[in-house]
Amino acid sequence: MADDTGPGLRDGFGRAVTYVRLSVTDRCDFRCVYCMPERMRFLPRAEVLSLEELARLGQAFVACGVRKLRLTGGEPLVRRDVMGLARALGGLIGQGLEELTLTTNGSQLGRYAAELYAAGVRRVNVSVDSLRPERFAAITRRGRLASVLEGIEAAAAAGLQVKLNTVALRGVNDDEFDDLLAWCGVRGFDLCLIETMPMGEVDEDRTDRYLPLDAVRADLARRWSLTPMGFRSGGPARYDFVGETGTRLGFITPMTHNFCESCNRVRVTCTGQLYLCLGQDDQVDLRGVLREGGDVVAAIRAAMARKPRGHDFVIGRDQKPAVARTMSLTGG
Ligand code: SAM
Ligand code: SF4
Repeated sequence: MADDTGPGLRDGFGRAVTYVRLSVTDRCDFRCVYCMPERMRFLPRAEVLSLEELARLGQAFVACGVRKLRLTGGEPLVRRDVMGLARALGGLIGQGLEELTLTTNGSQLGRYAAELYAAGVRRVNVSVDSLRPERFAAITRRGRLASVLEGIEAAAAAGLQVKLNTVALRGVNDDEFDDLLAWCGVRGFDLCLIETMPMGEVDEDRTDRYLPLDAVRADLARRWSLTPMGFRSGGPARYDFVGETGTRLGFITPMTHNFCESCNRVRVTCTGQLYLCLGQDDQVDLRGVLREGGDVVAAIRAAMARKPRGHDFVIGRDQKPAVARTMSLTGG
């Protein structure tokens, strides 16, 4: 239970850590080209934390003063009984936890939207890289756009606030940003564009796909009234207010603008490895502490001193990914 007795988490650079992204599985029903190789090898189940262990970790973070938890993956909604975890963590809302959210590819949202709302979730991020069925199928290698759109509709109907996340891919979906913005605009959804990050070996060269978002924003600003907002969602996105739609357009630009100075987050993999930075390899094994009956709260507090100043992402031809693990393992 949330029995916070000490101060909140703070790293060696004075940054308060109030946000944890918890990956509940490395598995996924899609194989997005920039995220995973076609023949992705998933982890043996014994390595993956049980739902009960994941709940204990979430509770320990809240006991340390963490105010926001995001469930992610892999695809969090393909994990069996994940709703039990959502309910357990949702039960912490009002006891230290302010928000429980989810990042999903949307394929199972139709099934779970109402249950997520009942568990206390109020906002979901849905990743949609294209609104054209064939292109969507090609990017995800096995996704069906219609199911995702049904899922999004179900989420909105259940009362969940939806934000769309789109990875900007040169030569793949760079002719669709206007359509995505308009589509989100009429539905009242915010849209966030993301630069592709060099994480894990995939089957293609990311150099060909990398699209700096400064140029994308400048181009969009010729057709849309974009006004920079001071608004930060506690994350790396910089937002514009879109005059025509009344919604927000965010840009996550780890490559062109390093966002590390305001970083308030850490990530935990589904194997219980605490990563202090998305773009660095340093990790702390919380699974060992959990399984050996150690003091998880103390381990989390001690780990904060190891949070690095920032990432070293570079995208270049013949360059190895900055980190060997894929985003699906660290949890986006
Ligand atoms: N499966 C869920 C989804 O797709 O939303 C949650 C996990 S996914 C790893 C989280 C986010 O990371 C998605 O928005 C996805 O597009 C993004 N992502 C995955 N690999 C990436 C990469 N190499 N660079 C940038 N974004 C990436
Ligand atoms: Fe799965 Fe999300 Fe990675 Fe796509 S981005 S393969 S949906 S984990």
